[in-house]
Amino acid sequence: MPIYIADSAVFMMGKIIDTLSTITVPSVVNELKSSESKLRFDLAREEGLRVESPSKEALERIKEVSGQSRDNDELSSTDIEVLAKAYEFGEEAVILTDDYAVQNVASILGIKVEPVVQKKIKDVLIWQKVCIGCKRKFDSGDICPVCGSSMKKRRKKKL
Ligand SMILES: [Zn+2]
Repeated sequence: MPIYIADSAVFMMGKIIDTLSTITVPSVVNELKSSESKLRFDLAREEGLRVESPSKEALERIKEVSGQSRDNDELSSTDIEVLAKAYEFGEEAVILTDDYAVQNVASILGIKVEPVVQKKIKDVLIWQKVCIGCKRKFDSGDICPVCGSSMKKRRKKKL
């Protein structure tokens, strides 16, 4: 069973998480501004989300690695704590984040990352023309060849 380490985006975006196998760090709370995100956080805690500080050793290791990769300027103290917490779990850890610098440091340390906001598969739209008069459908054209009314574009399907 992987241990998920949640960054603040999880609560801001409302990602569905398995609260019993998810840990976050105390400073995440400071990054939650909206009442919705705070509510999500509180609910997750009630449902078993663990909030734990990382060890000093893990924090030092993250600062060292992010200094070497020059990601340190981009990392907030919360990011560093999230990385450090994940570092404690090593191969078991999966960080839930969309932050590029966090992803970069995680990859250096061999820590898995899962995006918070999944990239949406682009909707494939197929258009067709529908006559406003007789409602017949055609693939193209502006004037209905049957009744002479104008036709409007309409979405045919979404894949
Ligand atoms: Zn028509």
